[in-house]
Amino acid sequence: MYFIVGSGPSGVACAHALAKAGRPVTILDAGLSLEPEREATRAALAQRDKNTWSSSELSFLQSAPSQERIPIKLAYGSDFPYRRVPLATEVLPAGLGLRGSYARGGLSNVWGGTILPYRQEDLAGWPITEHELADGYAAVLKFIPVAARLDPLEELFPLYTDRYAPLPQSKQIIALLRSLERGRTTLNARHVSFGSARLAVDAAGTRGQGPCIVCGRCLHGCPRELIYSSAQTLADLETSGKVSYLRGVVVGSIEETENSVRIHAQKMDGSPCLFEGERVFLAAGILNTTTIILRSQKRYDHPVDILDSQYFLFPMLQAAGVSGVTEEALHTLCQAFVEINDAGVSPHNVHLQVYSYNDHLSEILRQRLGFLAYVFPTNAILGRILFVQGYLHSSHSGKIVATLKRNGDADLLTLEPVINSATKDKIKLVIRKLRGLMRLTSAFPVASLVEICEPGRGSHSGGSFPMAHRPGPGQTDRVGRPHGMARTHIVDSSVFPTIPTPTITLTVMANAYRIGQEVAMQEAAVIDTSSRS
Ligand SMILES: Cc1cc2nc3c(=O)[nH]c(=O)nc-3n(C[C@H](O)[C@H](O)[C@H](O)COP(=O)(O)OP(=O)(O)OC[C@H]3O[C@@H](n4cnc5c(N)ncnc54)[C@H](O)[C@@H]3O)c2cc1C
Repeated sequence: MYFIVGSGPSGVACAHALAKAGRPVTILDAGLSLEPEREATRAALAQRDKNTWSSSELSFLQSAPSQERIPIKLAYGSDFPYRRVPLATEVLPAGLGLRGSYARGGLSNVWGGTILPYRQEDLAGWPITEHELADGYAAVLKFIPVAARLDPLEELFPLYTDRYAPLPQSKQIIALLRSLERGRTTLNARHVSFGSARLAVDAAGTRGQGPCIVCGRCLHGCPRELIYSSAQTLADLETSGKVSYLRGVVVGSIEETENSVRIHAQKMDGSPCLFEGERVFLAAGILNTTTIILRSQKRYDHPVDILDSQYFLFPMLQAAGVSGVTEEALHTLCQAFVEINDAGVSPHNVHLQVYSYNDHLSEILRQRLGFLAYVFPTNAILGRILFVQGYLHSSHSGKIVATLKRNGDADLLTLEPVINSATKDKIKLVIRKLRGLMRLTSAFPVASLVEICEPGRGSHSGGSFPMAHRPGPGQTDRVGRPHGMARTHIVDSSVFPTIPTPTITLTVMANAYRIGQEVAMQEAAVIDTSSRS
């Protein structure tokens, strides 16, 4: 039996590859899910016309107002994607941006759905090439829905699929993209590319739940479940009969014997359980996989670096406003990507995600503008304001030092954020670059409102056990095996040697698929050779 720990994006991608190669697969998972009363309300909304949705139903399915500057994103008003199970290893400080998940589907229950592959230049220092990830991208994009448009971004970032459908664009984004289009030649000459956002969204509703109705609820959780969650792939894999799923299992450590791997775990009632198989694939997410490996290798009090792609936010004011944005039928996920590949800013790509109006924005605006919110008519500002999420390469970003410690009878994972002194200057260069392009973009970045978030907050993190050509202690080989381990493979972002800026999850999945496929092929070759001799 091949065991996979975790049902998030990396777990299901690896399961797909192993199942396709005919390997018997069992996914072990803590497996928390949405509370039944919230799920019932969501399902009821999905079946009814949006004009009949009541305000009590809608407020039940959204986050309560928060005092945090950047509120934690919930799923249908629930924090289940981040909730700890009672047996979970304690993580301190608990409030840090980087969070683990114990949910069926992991953090894909709450993600923003943006997808973009890495290019060869993003993979500098990796022991694998863009070419070696290509099959993985193509394979996972057969089961991830894609909302995209064919635009010149394709020249930089291949789509890897011809199955995609467009989502409607908001009036603000149509205006922005028109301005950018007019200035395309100059923008490209100045190392800026742009295009519609690519999203893992089933715009046409091919799973039978109907198409997107642009109800603007995306950031609270799509009532029709059109934003991809790996729980959907898990359900398909279970139905196919090729993959078994065991929930309510919390894995603690791995022990390798000569011919097998033993997985030490506990059930939710605290009783111990043991699984024995040929191989284990760890897809528990950066924090939990790091904990499991450190514990298995008994590396207590041994700090490891978790790399991060620095996340920063800022508003941009458009020269011309759009009226009625609060009433517009729109989706509220990311709407456009802007890519800066200017060596004067960074030797690496800078990835910007542009959002137009959403209902969180009015609240954020009220908090940020302070007294100015009373001076300016909010609706006029909302019709001109775009919200940008930016990402820097990990070499210009902060990191998190993680250390597993003994704490009485239990273990404790401590996290220490470390700021990178280059980050601020790089972000200043990004803002200066955008200011210099104002006449072409018809939008002005508000430098005084730039927010540089703490490491881990952007959820594009990994690299605690990086893949290397010749792995030493603390590293992994190209199939994710930690130094000194033969049957244990890490398949999540813990094995990324760097964190490039394009969105992380598509490559997490492509790489997990690649590892599953390579391991299955290597084993098939061994069986073939031994049966011939
Ligand atoms: C608010 C938010 C928005 C995001 N938006 C985007 C985006 O737009 N684009 C993008 O590319 N990425 C985004 N991300 C990041 C993305 O969600 C993660 O990259 C992705 O979910 C990682 O997948 P994973 O399978 O490695 O781990 P996870 O999704 O964390 O899944 C971990 C799995 O392991 C299981 N597990 C954990 N520990 C144990 C244990 N000890 N025993 C048993 N089971 C265990 C959990 O139950 C879960 O099933 C976002 C993240 C957040 C939080």
